[in-house]
Amino acid sequence: RLVIGVLGLQGAVTEHINQVETSGCNGVIVKKPEQLKEIDGLILPGGESTTMRKLIERYGFFEPLKQFSKQRKPLFGTCAGMVLVAKELSASSEAHLQLMDVRVKRNAFGRQKESFEAVLPIKGLDLPFSAVFIRAPYIEKAAQHVEIISTYENHIVAAKQDHILVTAFHPELTNDTRMIEIFIDMVKKSKNTVAL
Ligand code: GLN
Repeated sequence: RLVIGVLGLQGAVTEHINQVETSGCNGVIVKKPEQLKEIDGLILPGGESTTMRKLIERYGFFEPLKQFSKQRKPLFGTCAGMVLVAKELSASSEAHLQLMDVRVKRNAFGRQKESFEAVLPIKGLDLPFSAVFIRAPYIEKAAQHVEIISTYENHIVAAKQDHILVTAFHPELTNDTRMIEIFIDMVKKSKNTVAL
């Protein structure tokens, strides 16, 4: 079985673990950098990106996470996780892990749309996906080699670059496991490549 980790410092951790297990993989809550060696892919959950960044520093995760990505191990950032992997943040906020060639705007949908649900077509899925947005970011600008997977009101809300997948919404808060299955496929493929 594939082993998928969820960074367990803060945020929607157990919901992701449940989806990982429902989808037939082993889910591990990652609380120490050493655990990164035992997993085939990592989910950076939603929560509060500034808090998560502080905890990443406090628990010595910053360099190990950069290394994890350098080894091309698959990463899935949801909501705050998407903020964490962005190379750039708008409104001159300081960027965090800087792994993906996108500029992300935090809390991008404004006050009247703090949280909402939208049914979105997703590239690679036959039927639309019911996406839950909570104080969600969106991708303001993406480099050419970033694959846009979904948009909402002309804003990019799901994308992929090499081994990194991101969504502005929270796929773990619904019973629909199709989004995590897209990630699990990426993990499967990356494992096969390493094995060859
Ligand atoms: N607004 C949060 C942030 O920027 C993200 C919200 C979420 O993850 N639901 O960190």
